[in-house]
Amino acid sequence: MKYTSTRGDVMVDETYALLHGLAEDGGLYVPSTFPSNSLTYEMIANKSYQEIAVIVLEKLFTSFSQKALREMVQSAYSEINFDTSDIAPLHSLSEHVSILELFHGRTQAFKDMALSLFPYLLVAAKKIEKESKNILILTATSGDTGKAALEGFKDVEGTHIQIFYPTDGVSPMQKEQMQKQEGSNVNVTAINGNFDDAQQFLKRLFVDETMADTVAQKDVMFSSANSINIGRLAPQIIYYVFTYAELVSTGAIHTDETFNVVVPTGNFGNILAAYYAKKMGIPIGKLICASNQNNVLTDFFNTGTYDMNRPFYTTISPSMDILESSNFERFLYYISGEDSERTSFWMETLKKTGCVSVNEDELKRIQHDFSGAYIDDEETKSIIDEVYNSYGYLLDPHTAVAMGAYIKELQLHLELEQQHTVIAATAHPFKFPDPICEALHIQQGHNAYESLEAISAVTGVAFPKQLLELRNKKLRFTKTIDKEAMKEEILLFVDSFVK
Ligand SMILES: *Cc1c(COP(=O)(O)O)cnc(C)c1O
Repeated sequence: MKYTSTRGDVMVDETYALLHGLAEDGGLYVPSTFPSNSLTYEMIANKSYQEIAVIVLEKLFTSFSQKALREMVQSAYSEINFDTSDIAPLHSLSEHVSILELFHGRTQAFKDMALSLFPYLLVAAKKIEKESKNILILTATSGDTGKAALEGFKDVEGTHIQIFYPTDGVSPMQKEQMQKQEGSNVNVTAINGNFDDAQQFLKRLFVDETMADTVAQKDVMFSSANSINIGRLAPQIIYYVFTYAELVSTGAIHTDETFNVVVPTGNFGNILAAYYAKKMGIPIGKLICASNQNNVLTDFFNTGTYDMNRPFYTTISPSMDILESSNFERFLYYISGEDSERTSFWMETLKKTGCVSVNEDELKRIQHDFSGAYIDDEETKSIIDEVYNSYGYLLDPHTAVAMGAYIKELQLHLELEQQHTVIAATAHPFKFPDPICEALHIQQGHNAYESLEAISAVTGVAFPKQLLELRNKKLRFTKTIDKEAMKEEILLFVDSFVK
């Protein structure tokens, strides 16, 4: 499969796109011919997660043999990496609402769904591309990508990984998970700045030829584990396809019935994967984009204008504290009818003015598939409390934002109530002890672990094993730098592993 850029007509192999992450023109790689309507129910009926994974990946990646893909998938979606053989179980909350649990991987966030597989794709791509340089994965994180990427790449031969996270922009548990990371090829650095700062810096760095030359002389090349990489996006399509098979097999929907999805959104990667699944033939009805107070996307879906000129809020759903959603560019590309010139123009405008608008026809088409809604922190805590009291089910703050957005949409569109809707649950609630304590009126402990013990005692939710083990691990990475020093930090890390 050839991939092209959202901003121009370059053509590269998928292995090149996987290896380099971002296109040289600054655009994002997209399939040059989209495998539209290539999936049917018959193809996925009664298949396991791993079997469905191979079927989906084959549509987007053709350089790897089926055997190779099968091996990668078996290693990634194993019972070592996931605490359930379903991999992404569907929890039925009520007749018309299911929760898609995407947090059963090693780091208790949905990022594991892609980052368990991604290192295998990257290493295989490197081999096919005959690339001998060391790969340095550079990744900005709003909390969960960092840990999931670190676990995915830890001690993977021929790779190193550098994570940057905003020092005040992640939950204490997320921070601890990263600061205590093990592995001989990892580096983790906090920055004084927010996620957008870190992500923007890296996107510029990926197209900085001088920097690329500097590290190439040391036999190093950069790549990305952020969802700008097509290797992150493709594995996320799998669970929406799997969901369709599950909903039919449990009788929640008929094969020819649609279901809606609600996705708590930050960088627009997860919801874009749902949109890809829909384009590939999965009968998804509405895609509901849920935001917290950083509601730039809600406004976009309501008005057609994406305006980043607004205050940035730090919320209790930190993985969604993003104003500049990377994958939104891929979305614009499809809205334009795969027109890279129009997409370039939009991205140029966004860069210059912080604001971009689609026309009325385009907005109408967008609203046919998508809608957006947001809730604030107080509402998020109320939802956690209400859902726990009504259903005995504990939501993490991000998933609660999705639930809140769904409830808001129900009030506006009564017909939704009769349709089946799937809420994407993107993190285990135990990653966010403080807001959960506040929501459920549980006295906080002296530290995160004591709070979690109290939550566990009240709700009966068991401690994920990895979080229990984390408690006794040593802090390793406690450095904080100014965002201007990120380049220097990268070069220091390179020198530490280049002989
Ligand atoms: C990353 C993340 C999100 C946002 O997902 P995007 O693909 O960036 O839109 C939402 N919730 C949690 C818990 C996350 O880790």
